[in-house]
Amino acid sequence: MAGTFGNPEVVEEEIDILIIGGGMGACGAAYELGPWMDQAKAQGVDIKVRLVDKAAMDRSGAVAQGLSAINTYIGDENDPADYARMVSNDLMGITRDDLAYDLGRHVDDCVHLFEEWGRFLENPGTIGDPGRQIRLLIEGGKPVRSGKWQIMINGESYKWIVAEAAKKALGMDNITERVFIVKLVNDKNRPNQVAGAVGFSVREDKVFVYKFKCCLLVAGGCVNIFRPRSVGEGQGRAWYPVWNAGSTYSMAAEAGAELTLMENRFVPTRFKDGYGPVGAWFLLFKAKATNAFGEVYMDRNADMLNDYPPYGQAAVPASCLRNHLMMKEMKEGRGPIYMDTVTALANLREELSPKEVKHLEAEAWEDFLDMCIGQCGIWVGENIEPEKKNSELMPTEPYLLGSHSG
Ligand SMILES: Cc1cc2nc3c(=O)[nH]c(=O)nc-3n(C[C@H](O)[C@H](O)[C@H](O)COP(=O)(O)OP(=O)(O)OC[C@H]3O[C@@H](n4cnc5c(N)ncnc54)[C@H](O)[C@@H]3O)c2cc1C
Repeated sequence: MAGTFGNPEVVEEEIDILIIGGGMGACGAAYELGPWMDQAKAQGVDIKVRLVDKAAMDRSGAVAQGLSAINTYIGDENDPADYARMVSNDLMGITRDDLAYDLGRHVDDCVHLFEEWGRFLENPGTIGDPGRQIRLLIEGGKPVRSGKWQIMINGESYKWIVAEAAKKALGMDNITERVFIVKLVNDKNRPNQVAGAVGFSVREDKVFVYKFKCCLLVAGGCVNIFRPRSVGEGQGRAWYPVWNAGSTYSMAAEAGAELTLMENRFVPTRFKDGYGPVGAWFLLFKAKATNAFGEVYMDRNADMLNDYPPYGQAAVPASCLRNHLMMKEMKEGRGPIYMDTVTALANLREELSPKEVKHLEAEAWEDFLDMCIGQCGIWVGENIEPEKKNSELMPTEPYLLGSHSG
């Protein structure tokens, strides 16, 4: 180890572009930058880029936790303008329609690239038609849709695949892992501009000082501003990963940046204590959430939605309004709230063959294993068979992050 404790070696580097973070956003930027760097090099200009991740890119960021869906794939059947409308509705109009539309226009190209880099989309032949030939999406293959916008994936290798593409594009020489950036440094002559960043190695006794012309700060969301709702043995557990420690927000704010639209607090509904995802249950298995008396609170409190036109009256009311209706039940003593897994699975049994039902049950477990292994632990530990026993739902504590429809 270089240096001694308290007297770290200082490594200085001057570069053109610094990417802080090694998650999905950073990998995307790295992949896009690669060809530009090559083009510039061909014209005799050497653009120096460095990507710095506090962890190891293969497994860093929120995606390391595993995903079961890509939340937006437009496909032939949807229109990017409708996507922008959905996002706007879901966040009650506090959105940038131009950005959402742009995302909708380009997202399919990304998904096609992901598929080219590694096969992790759910087998399009598995549900209903096991013999169907598997084709890539660009060859006309159909994804397994869990909702209008979402497609199902086997996400355990997702980050690995994306990191590999980023590493190839940028070259490992231009990537530093296990360095935690702690501060942006403002330009001496232009105080409203950043010119550098400082960090430390989490493995060696080294401090890093980067001087740059341009910086992309994509260090993920922010967890633990609000106390987790988890109780008992689950205390401290949060839905979003705790390693999303808020560097994006704090470092930018400290350097004087205006955090436009970054104040959005996301409160998803999740399975209580384990924070297991609910999307597949609602969308794929058509399950309903009920109050303690078995009443569907979305029906019982439907009138409340009229107070929030047009967001409450859309075919799918805004997420925060759905939470609002749920919290009314809890506040008025009709909690707890349950995911009615029993009825959902019974209904599926009437529509599908035993083999197909078995497949869907495996999907339900996989959904948890992909994204939230702890929820499997709870179901196994408490002997919960979802076809026999409903599970409690809770709105989580708020997180700051930019994903999930918005
Ligand atoms: C349980 C769960 C389920 C999800 N399910 C889905 C889903 O089904 N579909 C979907 O589309 N999305 C899903 N998401 C959201 C998705 O994971 C995120 O939107 C996405 O990962 C955000 O990318 P990002 O680059 O902004 O941040 P991240 O991917 O979190 O990356 C942040 C990066 O910054 C690095 N970093 C942080 N601080 C520093 C620092 N100070 N210095 C240096 N490096 C730093 C981290 O190591 C990491 O590499 C889910 C998220 C979770 C937690």
